Amino acid sequence: MENSAFAAPTPRALATEAVHAGREDLAQLGLHAPPLDLSTTYPSYDAAQEAERIDAFATTGARLEGPPVYARLDNPTTARFETALARLEGAQDAVAFASGMAALTAVLLVRASMGLRHVVAVRPLYGCSDHLLAAGLLGTEVTWTDPAGIAAAIRPDTGLVMVETPANPTLAEVDLAAVRHACGAVPLLVDNTFATPVLQRPLEFGAQIVLHSATKYLGGHGDVLGGVVACDEEFAGRLRQVRFATGGVLHPMAGYLLLRGLATLPIRVAAASASAAELARRLGCDPRVTAVHYPRLGGGMVSFEVHGDPRDVIAAVRLITPAVSLGSVDTLIQHPASISHRIVAETDRHSAGVSDRLLRLSVGLEDVDDLWSDLSQALGAQPARREERPMNGTLLTSPQGAR
Ligand SMILES: *Cc1c(COP(=O)(O)O)cnc(C)c1O
Repeated sequence: MENSAFAAPTPRALATEAVHAGREDLAQLGLHAPPLDLSTTYPSYDAAQEAERIDAFATTGARLEGPPVYARLDNPTTARFETALARLEGAQDAVAFASGMAALTAVLLVRASMGLRHVVAVRPLYGCSDHLLAAGLLGTEVTWTDPAGIAAAIRPDTGLVMVETPANPTLAEVDLAAVRHACGAVPLLVDNTFATPVLQRPLEFGAQIVLHSATKYLGGHGDVLGGVVACDEEFAGRLRQVRFATGGVLHPMAGYLLLRGLATLPIRVAAASASAAELARRLGCDPRVTAVHYPRLGGGMVSFEVHGDPRDVIAAVRLITPAVSLGSVDTLIQHPASISHRIVAETDRHSAGVSDRLLRLSVGLEDVDDLWSDLSQALGAQPARREERPMNGTLLTSPQGAR
C-alpha cells in the first residue's frame, strides 16, 4: 500500500499518528476500517512486468509498486501496520515478522550475510534473545559486556551492538546516547519492546535499528504474535529480502490486529504506567518485599524481589494471571528464573542481575486497588521476614517498617 501521497505535511503528535498512520488512503477508498487482505497470491496477465518487479525486489528489497506477487513478499494489511509503526518510531521504514524472535533472526542474518557475524550485547536481554546469541544458532558469535565495555569489545567483523532498555526482566536502563557513542560506525539495535515508542524513540538517540516483540504492548491484548523492525529504507530492503527467503512473515490477520492495537497504544501505556508506578510505590513500602525495580522512564512493568519463595506468590494470585508474556490489557506475573529466562544459564542469569527471587509483573488496565489487594494477599502466602538482603539493580524504595 503506497501511502506517501497522503503523508502528513506537518509532524503530528504521537497520539494522532497512532490512530491515523497507515490509514491515510482509507477515505479515498471509501472505507473507514482498514481492509483485511488474506490473499496468498495475486493475479497478473503480464508476465514480463512481473519479471521486472521481481528483479527490482531482488536488487533493493523495496516494497513492490502495485499488488504483491505472492504473500511471502508483502501484504497490504501488514504494510499498513509497518507504515504506522515506522511513523511512531520516527523511522523511514519498518518490516514485520511472525514474531519478535523471527525479527531478531532476520536482523542477524542480514548482518551475517555481509560477513559481519560478531555481535556485542549487553545483558540482560529477553531470555530467548540471549539464547539465540549465546547458542550461536545462526552462526553468530557474541561478546557480552556492560555498556562501559562496548567500545573495547568491537572488532572488525562486529555487525551489531544490541541492548534492551528497560531490560527484560530487571528493568535495568542503559544510557542510549552514551551507548550510541561507544558503537562508532557499528549499528546499534535497541529492543524497545518494554518502553514502546510512547516512552522512548531510540532513533532519536542515534540507534539505527529498533526491534519490537509486537506480541506485547503493540498488540496489547494477548491475542497476536508478531515482531517488527524499524530502520532506514536500505536496511528494511535487506530485511524484506531475508523475510522473503526465509519465510518468517506476519500473518495478515496479525497485521490487522497490530494496526488496531497501535491506535490505543498511547492511552494503554499511559494508564498502565500510572498503575505500575503506584504499585511500585506500595511494593516499596511493604516489608515482605526486599527490592523493587521500576524504570525512571516509567512504563507498565514492575519487577520485585521477595523474602520467601517467589513461586508461592505465583501460586497465590487470583485476579492477576500467572503467565509469561506482557503488555496485555490484563495483569500478568511470572518468575523469570523459572520461565522467561529459564533458558539462560544460571550463572549468566545471576551475573546479569536476574535474582532467583525476582518476580516480573506486567501491569494491565484493571483498577489499581483491585490489583493491590490481589498482590498483597498473594504476598501473604510467603512468610514475612525483616532482615535485609542484597539487592540487584535499581532500588526504588527501601523496605520500611510494617504497614
Ligand atoms: C517477548 C520478547 C521478545 C521475543 O518476542 P516474541 O514475539 O515472543 O518472539 C523479544 N524481546 C523482548 C524484550 C521480549 O519481551
